[in-house]
Amino acid sequence: MPDNAQQTTDRAIPADESPTVTRAGYGPAFSPTHPLALAPVGSPPHSVDGFVAAFLAELNTKQGVALSHSSTNAQYLALAGTVRQYLMARWLETSRKTHEAKAKTVGYLSAEYLLGRQLGNALMASDLNEIAEKGLAQCGIDLTTLRNQEVEPGLGNGGLGRLAACFIDSLATMDVPCIGYGIRYEYGIFRQTFVDGRQVEQPDTWLALGSPWEFPHPDESVQVNFGGYTEKSVDADGREKTTWVPSWNVLGVPYNYMVPGYLNGRVNPLRLWSAQATKAFDLSIFNAGDYAEAVRAQTFAENISKVLYPEDSTPQGKELRLQQQYFFVACSLRDFLDHELEEGFDLHDLPSRIIFQLNDTHPVIAVPELMRILMDERGFDWEEAWEVTHQCFAYTCHTLLPEALEVWSTDLLGRLLPRHLEIIYGINDRFLAEVREAFPGDELRAGRMSIITEYPERGVRMAYLATVAATKVNGVAELHSQLLRDKVLPDFSALWPERFTNVTNGVTPRRFLKMANPKLSDVICDAIGSGWVTDLERLKELETYALDDDFLAAFREAKDWNKRRLTTLLRNRDGIDLPDGHLLDVMVKRLHEYKRQTLKLLHVVSLYEQVLSGKLAPADLTPRTVVFGAKAAPGYRMAKDIIHLINRVARTVNADPCLEGRLKVAFPANYNVTLAEKLIPAADLSEQISLAGMEASGTGNMKFALNGALTIGTDDGANVEIRRLVGDEHFFLFGMSEPEVAALGARGYDPGAYYQGNAAIRAAIDLINSGIFSDGDRGMFESVTMSLTHHDRFMALADFESYVAAQARVEERYADQESWTRSAVLNVARSGYFSSDRSMRDYLRRIWHTQPML
Ligand SMILES: *Cc1c(COP(=O)(O)O)cnc(C)c1O
Repeated sequence: MPDNAQQTTDRAIPADESPTVTRAGYGPAFSPTHPLALAPVGSPPHSVDGFVAAFLAELNTKQGVALSHSSTNAQYLALAGTVRQYLMARWLETSRKTHEAKAKTVGYLSAEYLLGRQLGNALMASDLNEIAEKGLAQCGIDLTTLRNQEVEPGLGNGGLGRLAACFIDSLATMDVPCIGYGIRYEYGIFRQTFVDGRQVEQPDTWLALGSPWEFPHPDESVQVNFGGYTEKSVDADGREKTTWVPSWNVLGVPYNYMVPGYLNGRVNPLRLWSAQATKAFDLSIFNAGDYAEAVRAQTFAENISKVLYPEDSTPQGKELRLQQQYFFVACSLRDFLDHELEEGFDLHDLPSRIIFQLNDTHPVIAVPELMRILMDERGFDWEEAWEVTHQCFAYTCHTLLPEALEVWSTDLLGRLLPRHLEIIYGINDRFLAEVREAFPGDELRAGRMSIITEYPERGVRMAYLATVAATKVNGVAELHSQLLRDKVLPDFSALWPERFTNVTNGVTPRRFLKMANPKLSDVICDAIGSGWVTDLERLKELETYALDDDFLAAFREAKDWNKRRLTTLLRNRDGIDLPDGHLLDVMVKRLHEYKRQTLKLLHVVSLYEQVLSGKLAPADLTPRTVVFGAKAAPGYRMAKDIIHLINRVARTVNADPCLEGRLKVAFPANYNVTLAEKLIPAADLSEQISLAGMEASGTGNMKFALNGALTIGTDDGANVEIRRLVGDEHFFLFGMSEPEVAALGARGYDPGAYYQGNAAIRAAIDLINSGIFSDGDRGMFESVTMSLTHHDRFMALADFESYVAAQARVEERYADQESWTRSAVLNVARSGYFSSDRSMRDYLRRIWHTQPML
């Protein structure tokens, strides 16, 4: 142990100091002299000595090890515990302040939160980076090593879960009271490995080495009921009353995570629920003497929060998934009503205190749940309950794909939640009466709009239920919101045009620029100061620097540094060698046919084919490394076949000496937030190539532009807005527009004609079918090539020629490094709009009608 470490231990936090309590139950008032307090924002905070003392105390008393014998993991846990101490005073203070002000809170209901690592963000938000680095150095510990020890909580699949994480970061930073509600999955998104190029899923054991960022509150557990039946009775006033008699229940245990605002002292809660068996549940079985059965019952209850469903965009109608949805939503409503509101609060005023934002349809069962609580437990009549419920919910739709819209069979729903199904029928009856009144005699319309569908079996269309219940319904980019009105919910937008609105997605600039790209952040700060971190539109001030040679050089140096950092990472992590000086062409996102990884792959195969057949001299290729990163849903056969094909193409191309130094394909496994933070800052070219009208927004596209990559993309999702803001000449547009896609679909799309008619397409597909990538096995990738030539639902072949032409424009521009860098700078300068802070301002103004506390 270093000498100085010993000296500082006696300055540990005194245990007997009692905090000032101004209001029972809500913790200490903020006091700058309190040992856990942070110094006021803006002044030089904390001290290195104090940090070392707290760190060693954590290491000794919580981890039970001496510094000299501590593992990296013990050190990481102690560091996390230390940072948590610094945040704790502000967390308690935030809670006290919010309760005291009786401020309206945003209840963000999301089945997924793709948080990414916590340590770096917590250090940044509390301005402890430098102090921690120096303090740890005194102990002979490297901060980066400890940061790399953290396993990210992967409690989401992709964009939707990451969006929730960006939003709660922005709300905390903007001083808006928010509780994020979700599920504490014991196993998050699977860890992807490759075996012979095929995806193999490993369980994500993110809790195995300790979970220092959460604190459970079993004392605030709530009970959640399932099953059974309902009973009607008439009360003393002659009113009909319904009682739900459930048949089983579980306990929801809250685990709190701190969501720190950036340097502003606010720390909002993220409350994730874990399922446990209730005593009542197993006691009866224990009493019956069947010990084994009782333990099995426990396992059954705990299964509810066991694992995240790894489907992205194509939900499976599994019973356990519906259990998960109701479980977390019932816990969250109960928690808010019983623990966040004052005793005796009049629930008629509930909309003045909460707005629940439904992140897609996963939490929509909250609507009948609130109705049930108000009517069956609080004596509201239907109209009163509906008035309150309608004002308390807003709904975000995230898709246009019909197969992504959740429908729960009434059979399953009625078995699991009989009272809720009754209420849904009640909502539907009253809603259809309203439709018939607005459109008399239009029975076809009433049939189309019914929340209940009869095909293929009777089911509840959750998107319709959400739309009927919500005060506002929003899409996630301008084009998507338009298509939502025109194509997905046209009858609803005709009935309630004012209910529909748009909020274009955003990403947090703290994680995805300041933290992920420290070099570029420094370059930006040197030029325009640091105000952009919380006011991203100020990046506009960089526009004048796009003509400044020194700035361009510094910008390029930052990009090169990021590439070197990535090179080191991929060598150590995946055994992949990135060549120097290549155009880094990156396509990272979930694997889905609509995103069209095959279009990118066909481009690679086509280049290779042209070299093999002598049509193209290797020396004429722009040196390029194509990086893929993508997980496929384990049950999505085609997506997994495409992953296999990408890996096989990579193997062949990378081994062929004639492409040495010219074309390389890299596919690091297990794309997640941690990898995104390293990949995106290094990228030159961002691939956003979905079929127009299919990608609701995309947020990966925003992260890349913000980090100075140029986009090659279709007119889809937020690409439309990115292109409009950065300017046509700094964006490589290709492909059909959405109306052109619709027109081609209506005419009848024949991919075979493109295969026959376009020599490059035919040669590329034939090369795959030749067996060159599959050790001579010509059938190995038949599923992929047959699908392309016979169905091609997402029209990759129709856009191929345009895509290749756009890639040629990319290469031309890249040859002029100065012009490329200038465009990259302008992409950064003009991406301020895509801050999730701006998204939150839009939600506050258009949907939530609440304000920052400040
Ligand atoms: C941003 C992000 C996504 C979303 O990417 P899209 O390109 O918008 O689909 C998915 N996964 C991770 C890990 C991300 O960081």
